[in-house]
Amino acid sequence: MTEAILRAEQIEKWYGPTPALRDVSLQVDPGEIVAVTGPSGCGKSTLLHCLSGILRPERGRVWFQEREISAAGEAERSRLRRTVFGVLFQFGQVVPELTGIENVTLPLQLGGLRYREAARRAQDLLDRLAVGDLADKRPGEMSGGQQQRVALARALVTEPQVLFADEPTGALDSLAGEQVMVELVRLARQHGTTVLVVTHNAQVAAYADREITLRDGRVDSDGRVDSDGRFHGGGRVLAREEAR
Ligand code: ADP
Repeated sequence: MTEAILRAEQIEKWYGPTPALRDVSLQVDPGEIVAVTGPSGCGKSTLLHCLSGILRPERGRVWFQEREISAAGEAERSRLRRTVFGVLFQFGQVVPELTGIENVTLPLQLGGLRYREAARRAQDLLDRLAVGDLADKRPGEMSGGQQQRVALARALVTEPQVLFADEPTGALDSLAGEQVMVELVRLARQHGTTVLVVTHNAQVAAYADREITLRDGRVDSDGRVDSDGRFHGGGRVLAREEAR
């Protein structure tokens, strides 16, 4: 049996009197691309934040490989986020004052890499994402889809083991969003990167190997998605629309 790369055991997270996650347990295998879906407010972002160590659950435990993230202090959790995790949000994480290439070299330079080597790696990734010619442009001169490719390059340039993406196409039109998802999945598969992608978009979920649906802070269904977009879970095989 493959050793899980991420594991959550009966986690609970509350915001004051509001339960955001209740008794959530799951395991993610290395290289799996997992979509986390469900209606707004069901706990998707909170789950991603607990798994990536941004938040600590009140109850239950979270592991990355054999390290228990939920027991780690802030310094250790932020070190994990800088080194083995990559994060991609809906929008807003590219720095407007920096050029495309400066945005992508940033995490490498924070990690102590010299600019010349950082720029070489950043340019290579921007080229592979078809935005290499925007290296010297600032985000204000790019389309939303181009900015999101730069953000994706920045999330992947450190070669993270796990990419956490929260509605990565939510601010894009459907064509640009689809292109970003195609690139994300292509690069993740090339590098064996594990991906957790939060989305309410069925088209985005169709790129995943597996779909976990939350409802009211609990796991409502967890199953595999085959190449025809059919969902296999809970002993049933359903067309995607029926599964909702
Ligand atoms: P989703 O990502 O599925 O939209 P969230 O994880 O953002 O859901 O939110 C889950 C629940 O927790 C919701 O009821 C939401 O209102 C609540 N919540 C999320 N963040 C906060 C916060 N910072 N303070 C108070 N309540 C929050």
